[in-house]
Amino acid sequence: MKDYYSILGVSKTASEEEVKKAYRKLAHQHHPDKAGGDEKKFKEINEAYQVLSDKNKRAQYDRFGTAEPMGGFGGAGGQWGGAGFPGGGQWSNVGFDPSQFGDMGDFGDIFESFFEGMGGAPRRKTYEKGSDLEVQEQITLEEAFGGTIKTVRLRTFVQCAKCGGKGAEPGSGFEKCTTCDGQGQIREQRRTFFGSFSQVKTCAKCHGTGEVPKKPCATCKGAGRVESNRDINIDIMAGIDDNQIIKVKGMGEAGERGTAAGDLYVRVRVRPHAVFARHGADLIVTRDLKLVDLLLGKSITVPVISGGTITAEIPAGFNLKESLRIAGQGMPHIGSRARGDLLVNFMIKAPKKPGAKAKELLEKLEKEQ
Ligand SMILES: [Zn+2]
Ligand SMILES: [Zn+2]
Repeated sequence: MKDYYSILGVSKTASEEEVKKAYRKLAHQHHPDKAGGDEKKFKEINEAYQVLSDKNKRAQYDRFGTAEPMGGFGGAGGQWGGAGFPGGGQWSNVGFDPSQFGDMGDFGDIFESFFEGMGGAPRRKTYEKGSDLEVQEQITLEEAFGGTIKTVRLRTFVQCAKCGGKGAEPGSGFEKCTTCDGQGQIREQRRTFFGSFSQVKTCAKCHGTGEVPKKPCATCKGAGRVESNRDINIDIMAGIDDNQIIKVKGMGEAGERGTAAGDLYVRVRVRPHAVFARHGADLIVTRDLKLVDLLLGKSITVPVISGGTITAEIPAGFNLKESLRIAGQGMPHIGSRARGDLLVNFMIKAPKKPGAKAKELLEKLEKEQ
């Protein structure tokens, strides 16, 4: 566990003002853009300050020795509607999430530029990749048995057909971004309350690529993708179980400017069946059985998932507490010819009050045994 108090060189009872003062002094001293600066140290100081300057975080740190919230920070992306879809040629930058650093006011900016500039080259925020999508598709047990093809209709980003995803009017090509002079990044001086620093920012106009279309595509406004309906045929294999997910590579959102598309995940829901219950690859059916049929050893008919019925014998001495297992009449195993079994459970139907004749016969039967 890091000792934030000793990192800032203050006592555990230090006031807010003392913490702030110590931070200013140290941050100024160790800022990596200064001569003799130290990135690691600067980062540590900022981390300590972030916790000790916040009443709640400090109290939590004092109590538990950590200021980390439970659970992770939410990831970006995956949302419908596509944050960052260009409106008038502006893209929102993704990648760095300032919320990760809490509400730090002006510090957030310093942090952001600092991490961007870490390790020499700035992190290039290029065009946004397409998000993954998930849809649900309901099928019947019969469809799960035989396999089926379903057409899923999605409203999503698709590659712009006019410019082929490039973002430039066909034939117009690209030219050097004048905002960053083709560097993809912009260095600017920044004044903060503890000094003036230079910072490197990814060029917002070209997204760090250093070039822009000579003439942005009129259809997609330079994004290389447009929102549209897309029909996708999903091959659902025989034997699929409820809640299984099929991944269709590259069928999620198209990326901006021809960057990688997301994937489509299809969650298959198999509707409950009126006759069969399912247990893995086995199917279970419950059938009424007349007592007399059992006694006389008559063969019975049982419905099967492939359609129709089959005939089955109840073996002599059969224990009605067990299921009658009919091999190979269950669901297929995915990618195999093997099938599970059909299990038949019986409900014995005793005759209602037997008539005089039936009673006489039953009494005879009793003497036979
Ligand atoms: Zn286009
Ligand atoms: Zn640029």
